[in-house]
Order: sequence, then C-alpha cells, then structure tokens
Amino acid sequence: MSVLSKFRTIPYNCYEIAHPTVESCADLSLNALTAAFRRSITLYGTIFIIQRVISGRFGWADILRTIPKALQSSMFVTVNIYLFISLTCQQSRILKKFSLMTPLNSALLSSLLAIHLEVPARRRLLAVYMMDIATETAYESMCLHTNFKPIPYFPVFLYAASMAAHFHRATSSRDLLVRGLGFLIGQRSDHSIDSQPAVETQAAPGLWASLKARLSPSSHDCTSNSCVHHAARSGIRGLVSGYLLSVIISLPGLLRGSSPNKESAIRLGAFLAVTSAGTSGIQCLLQKSSLCRTSLSAKTRLTIAVFVSSLSIAIYPSRRIALHIFWRTLASYLKFDSVPYPLPEATYAICCAALAFFVVYEPQTLRKSYLKSLDQLSGDCLSKINRHPLEAYSGCHSSKLYPEFFPMKELKLSRVSPKFIEQVLIWSVR
Ligand SMILES: [Zn+2]
Ligand SMILES: [Zn+2]
Repeated sequence: MSVLSKFRTIPYNCYEIAHPTVESCADLSLNALTAAFRRSITLYGTIFIIQRVISGRFGWADILRTIPKALQSSMFVTVNIYLFISLTCQQSRILKKFSLMTPLNSALLSSLLAIHLEVPARRRLLAVYMMDIATETAYESMCLHTNFKPIPYFPVFLYAASMAAHFHRATSSRDLLVRGLGFLIGQRSDHSIDSQPAVETQAAPGLWASLKARLSPSSHDCTSNSCVHHAARSGIRGLVSGYLLSVIISLPGLLRGSSPNKESAIRLGAFLAVTSAGTSGIQCLLQKSSLCRTSLSAKTRLTIAVFVSSLSIAIYPSRRIALHIFWRTLASYLKFDSVPYPLPEATYAICCAALAFFVVYEPQTLRKSYLKSLDQLSGDCLSKINRHPLEAYSGCHSSKLYPEFFPMKELKLSRVSPKFIEQVLIWSVR
C-alpha cells in the first residue's frame, strides 16, 4: 500500500511513456495486432496438435472441430492485446496524462470484453491460471516492498497438503494429476481411489492408453514380496520421466545454444523418483499393516501416501509448482468448474488488471517466461516502455529489469511536450 500512496499522476502522453519507439498510436496497435495473432495462432496450434497426439484422435472430424477452436482462442488473445494497447493510448490522449489507473483500466476493460470471445469451456481454466500467476506476482512484489521473510519450507508443505487434498477429493480418472501419478507409479485397481475402480482401466483411448499399457507393470496385489519391486519400478519410471521432462523443458534453450542445466534435470528426476516410489511404498506399507487395513479406506491410504511422498518437492524446490497445485486444488473444492457466468470472466479480468499494473510498473516481479511471452504477443511493446520517468513518479523500481533502455535516439523531439524535454530529457543528459 505504501507504493500506491506514493503514486502521482504522470503528466506525459502515451508516446513519451508507453511507446517511445513508435510514433503513431495506430501503428503501434496494428503492430501489436499482427504480432499477437501470429504468436497466438502458433501457440494454440501447437497446443491443439499436442492434445490430438495425446488423445490419439487424428480423424478429419476431430481436426475440423479443432481448427475453429484454435482460431477462436487466437482471436481472443489478439483482441485482448489489441484492446489493451489501444485503450491505454486512448485514455492517456483523452486525459492528457498517464497514471496508475491507465494500465489497470485498459486491462480490466479489454480482458472483460475479450474473454467473451474465448471458448466457454476454457474460461474457468484460464481464470484459475491467471489467479496462479497474479498471486505469485503479488507475492514477489510484497517481498520487494516489505520486510516479509518467507517461511522456510512453506512451499514444500503447501504443495504436499494441496496434493493430498486434491487426491482425497479426486473422483475422476481423467483428472490430469491422477493420470500423471498413475502413469508414474503404474497404479492398479488394488491401490486406486475408492470411487474409481482403476486409473489404468478408465484412461482415455489412444496414444496415452497404449503408452501406459506398454509401460505399466503387471498387477500388484501386495500379497507377495513384490512391493519392493513395485516401488523400485515406480521410482525408476519417475527418475526417467523427470529427466526426460527436464530435457523437454530446456529444449528451446538448447536450440538457442544454451548449455543444459544438469543439476536441475537430476533434481527433477530425483523428485519424481521419490514421489512415485514413495507413493507406491507407503501405500504398500499401509495396505500390509493389519491396523491400517481395517481402519483406513484405500482413499485415505492414498491421501497419506501422496502427502508424505510429495514432501520430496524439497529436492526440487518450486514455489511456482506449489502455488499452481494449491490453486488447482482450491478451485476443485470450490467447484470452480461449475461456477456461473460471469464469475470466471470477472476473475480473469481482475487478475489481468493486477498483472498489467505489475507489467508496467514492476516487470521484475513477473515470472520471466510469462513476461517474455506477453512481450512477444505485444510485438515487443512491453519491453520498450519508457520506465525511467515512471520510476521517478511512482516510487517503484520500474526500470530495474531494463536499466539500459532509454529512447534518447528514437524519440522525435517534435512529438514530445516541452515539459517532457525540461523534466526528463535534460535531466537524462546530465
Ligand atoms: Zn499512443
Ligand atoms: Zn505392495
């Protein structure tokens, strides 16, 4: 709040602050429109192709159903970016100033309008995703402006508690986390959630099912000495999956010539290995214990096993993963997937408005990959905001991420106000 109280109106126009490298507001909006469409069609095209590959559905009917959805989602992102940039310019032109409220208002209105273009089934998921990003960013900002000391191992406990709560509630074998853990440990009917006979047997058809059929171990009933082998097999599957996942995550960097992060790959592999071996082993222990067998349901045994094994995220500490799982679990408990219109739409718009504030005034608080993708969607417009004057007026560390960027050469003096020359340009030359 101390930051907000320091805020003053910034007496410069959109050219001086928001787009000092592009003279015309119309050109800026047009650049953003084409960049956003190009980028989002690539993004959604890739997502829908991956979904087709995982589900194994390549029929013409599926492809013809997919293309309009990919186009619709791309249009939503494009319109959202275009409206945000246009409204920012329009506001500062009408009011002849730039203020705290400028990016907030633009983001709120543009997101509220654009979300209605998105496929309805995706809106709730998108709202949860934005809550995840907004919380993480607000947390970073709080750490920046206060003496708040993070509680040691809090993300570890948050992750373990959220995973346990999620599995305690999960009733569908189509749930992504259930399918993921089921894949890692080769879960069979004797270990599965009470209300679902078997994670394996209800898996979606196609590539996913055939992959699991090939990789899953034979049935494990805890009546022989096969528990150690079962846990070991789960652990090896987790280790290999984690290592491969790490390679996939770092693939874009590797293609750009960056060296692979071996430590991260080993940590991720070890985390998934301990998670999968731990879940299998603890379930076996609880199942074999006569006391637990009679007093605990299979679902409770699974919940306990998931909680204990999830503490292994301490090997691969990630606040981002912990927060994501927390929001996902909270959304499922609040039955967010069935909340009525316009709650998901309003949640999305409010989160976008909060993020727009941070993007403009404190971009260093945003997740780097997310900021980069937003910048590419906007046609590099977000990284070229003139943040030095913003810093002077807002009291935020606005230029921390781009300290070198100051549009001295690009600015056309005929287009800037005498006040800007007097207060910013002359000051910067000194
Ligand atoms: Zn403008
Ligand atoms: Zn067993």
